[in-house]
Amino acid sequence: ALTAGIVGLPNVGKSTLFNAITKAGAEAANYPFATIDPNVGMVEVPDWRLKRLTELVKPKKEVPTTFEFTDIAGIVKGASKGEGLGNQFLSHIRQVDAICHVVRCFDDENITHVEGRVDPIADIETINLELVLADLESVNKRYTRVAKVAKTKDKDAVAELAVLDKIKPVLEEGKSARSVEFTDEEQKIVKGLFLLTTKPVLYVANVAEDEVADGENNPYVKQVKAFAASENAEVIIVCARAEEEIAELEEEDKAEFLEAMGIEESGLDQLIRAAYDLLGLATYFTAGEQEVRAWTFRKGMKAPQCAGIIHSDFERGFIRAETVSFEDLDHYGTMHAAKEAGRVRLEGKDYEVQDGDIMLFRFNV
Ligand code: GDP
Repeated sequence: ALTAGIVGLPNVGKSTLFNAITKAGAEAANYPFATIDPNVGMVEVPDWRLKRLTELVKPKKEVPTTFEFTDIAGIVKGASKGEGLGNQFLSHIRQVDAICHVVRCFDDENITHVEGRVDPIADIETINLELVLADLESVNKRYTRVAKVAKTKDKDAVAELAVLDKIKPVLEEGKSARSVEFTDEEQKIVKGLFLLTTKPVLYVANVAEDEVADGENNPYVKQVKAFAASENAEVIIVCARAEEEIAELEEEDKAEFLEAMGIEESGLDQLIRAAYDLLGLATYFTAGEQEVRAWTFRKGMKAPQCAGIIHSDFERGFIRAETVSFEDLDHYGTMHAAKEAGRVRLEGKDYEVQDGDIMLFRFNV
């Protein structure tokens, strides 16, 4: 499964946020084969459409889809030089598919800031710089080798050298490689470089309890937003401490708590959805009398591949998929009515599944 890694300087609220994630954790009974890694927190992906389908279909069971966060502890200044847990930290980031960068946006005299002051941009730059330096080292190593081969007019080497020439000066300026624009062809080469600063990122502004409701106007948040905009990255505002409490509440109490805080959706729920989006993930549903269930797929996947997420036999023996969009089923109320209205399609093996599709796979065993 794809995972988003939680990073940030010490004392910014990472553990608090990760605790909230584990407390909110997906019901283990639904996912018997889930990995048990203390650094991985599995959460259910909030989706109102699933609730609506349950209302319509009235199944025995409702099963949401899940998303995984990985806690990456231990960044210190000098990670790229292998200081402290530095190397380990970088190798953990290498393994995640996206980065959730937690930034301290709350004042609290009782909680020491590692640098002695709250300054979100300096914090972001401290971490980003370690990642940039690590990338610069990889790029420089690669550069020497590729430049030699490119002299022989080897086509691949020439193409790669052009990409390295685009990335290198940006890293040398201390900026992340994600700020460089690449063509689709170049993007394939970039992927093979396994850089850290090309991974998609979203910033998590951790604000004080009484600042969440008006988070947009918090001066620290504004700084983070301006910085994120320069990288085309998104910012999610949370109060990690409150999320830890919210995660332990029952559904009804949760709504009340959020209302008292003056927000509509919990920061954690927003974060889950933003990370899901960032990774190019989408959801399709299966809806039967036994269970209504959400399944995660990568945008662009075809029907047989999506069937394979449920079971490899479904992919191998795929014939076709009866498909209806969520909007149509929601509108017509029952599968039968949607069918009468001609809204249920028979899709074949080349169909690109869309977010919100409700699928019934037909297959040979
Ligand atoms: P980490 O080192 O980044 O994992 O940081 P922790 O999660 O351990 O948090 C450091 C300290 O900040 C702890 O004492 C937390 O209780 C506190 N903290 C975390 N989030 C908030 C917050 O939203 N508001 C306040 N006032 N304190 C917080």
